[in-house]
Amino acid sequence: MNRRSLLKTAGLLPLVAPDLPLVASAVRKRSVRFAYLGDTHITADSKPMASVARCLHHAQDQADKPAFILHGGDTIMDALGQDRSQVQKQWDAWHTVVKGNSSLPIEYCIGNHDVWGYEGAKADPLYGKKWAVEQMGISNRYRSFDKNGWHFIILDSVQTTPEGKWYTAHIDAEQMDWLKNDLARTDPKTPVLLLSHIPIVSATVFYDKANVKNGNWQIPGSWDHTDAVDLIALFYQHPNVKACLSGHMHLLDRVEYNNVTYFCNGAVSGNWWTSDTYHQTKAGYALFDLYDDGTIERTYLTYNNK
Ligand SMILES: [Zn+2]
Repeated sequence: MNRRSLLKTAGLLPLVAPDLPLVASAVRKRSVRFAYLGDTHITADSKPMASVARCLHHAQDQADKPAFILHGGDTIMDALGQDRSQVQKQWDAWHTVVKGNSSLPIEYCIGNHDVWGYEGAKADPLYGKKWAVEQMGISNRYRSFDKNGWHFIILDSVQTTPEGKWYTAHIDAEQMDWLKNDLARTDPKTPVLLLSHIPIVSATVFYDKANVKNGNWQIPGSWDHTDAVDLIALFYQHPNVKACLSGHMHLLDRVEYNNVTYFCNGAVSGNWWTSDTYHQTKAGYALFDLYDDGTIERTYLTYNNK
């Protein structure tokens, strides 16, 4: 044993030899790759079921395979206006397709169409978000978890309007307190990714001329978080917030603001299964690569949904 190997064995040499070029430590390393699938809007009909199955295979059969699926919400076609048996059929269709076609773990986010808002069900214990929480197997309607050095925060965007109807986009007071505490508790060196079904900041809200009224833009509060100003200010206090993902609009965009990247991620169902393109966005899903330096790459992929 020479002196060097002796020192190494004794743990006295640094793991990285000091004569290596400095650039080596500046090379980013991928922390995790996951697939974002959203707005699957499944029904018990053959086209959505077969198409979602193909999409799941497309994602997990990638040569560079994602570690898990992040579902952006609107898993089922609609629970807002449907009775118990119709909603049950849609959840059953979803579970059948997932069970038969995917081995990847799924982390869910609640979308507006996942909320059971049926008029005649107000007294039912599953009314509102309880049924979706149960079907998705999630611990709460909003939550956070860590994966491979990144902190994930899943928000619940969908609230009742002042008139008491579902839905408008914001987080309620309880959830805002929790979010502030969750961010405060997170190591400032840990990069953070948020997911909300409805976008917080998005260019997609400008796709519809009907929202120009008397020469002014009027962006619906159901399209973009009405508490965006508060959330933007909160994220500014936490520079480790790197990305906010969303679905809902069925459109694809990427907006950089205050060093946060906001990604709206199309829809697996395209134009709610009536055609494969909604405005200029094709039906699809996204692969996200998160790196240890807090950077992110997104690849949007189409799949055969005919
Ligand atoms: Zn949707």
